[in-house]
Amino acid sequence: MITVDEPRPVIDHAAVISRMIEACREAIAEREADLCDLDRAIGDGDHGTNLRRGLDALAAESRQLATMPPADALMAAGTTLVMNIGGAAGPLYGTLLLELGAALRRTSNWPNALSQAVAAVARRGKSSTGEKTLLDVLYPLSDEVIRHTPLHLLAQHVQGFAEMTIDMKAMRGRASFLGERSIGHMDPGAASCALLAATICRELTEAGIE
Ligand code: ADP
Ligand code: MG
Repeated sequence: MITVDEPRPVIDHAAVISRMIEACREAIAEREADLCDLDRAIGDGDHGTNLRRGLDALAAESRQLATMPPADALMAAGTTLVMNIGGAAGPLYGTLLLELGAALRRTSNWPNALSQAVAAVARRGKSSTGEKTLLDVLYPLSDEVIRHTPLHLLAQHVQGFAEMTIDMKAMRGRASFLGERSIGHMDPGAASCALLAATICRELTEAGIE
């Protein structure tokens, strides 16, 4: 018997990349003040502004990035984030995208590439899990991607990962200067990371990528 495969919907990758960048820019612009408030409680109050600068720069390059193969686009976007976010978060978010792009040149396995990129962020920050940083979102996120959790469910889980940082004592970055007094506040980097991850998961789901 001859079987005929269902036609796969054609995915317009350039449009997906553009929409994803725009959705991230909007999400950060909307929450800029909240992210600054979180950073004011345990840091210097600039995290929302730093990310807003980074996402604005990315949006300005969106058209160009959308025409590139995903690995190249991620590497170019990583460089833009390093140059524009600044602070501690710039090199960390930048490393995530640069290493994800680099890993995708070696493998087409996205879950493996993501876990390699997260490991690179940990090396860059000399940091690990449970230290009240964006890694407390990135590690569990990467674990769920490896377990093939559907993206629409992942979008719902990530906020919970960021909330887990409330009870943690900061061991890295400015917040670590507060020691015990950092307990009781959500880490701003974990909050922005959860927001961006949820936004990206929703955009990918809407584009039909699971
Ligand atoms: P800065 O601390 O230079 O003002 P941001 O406010 O933009 O930079 O970013 C602070 C966030 O960066 C923290 O909330 C934390 O999640 C993350 N961070 C800081 N230092 C480290 C580190 N060594 N490893 C991992 N993440 C870190
Ligand atoms: Mg700060």
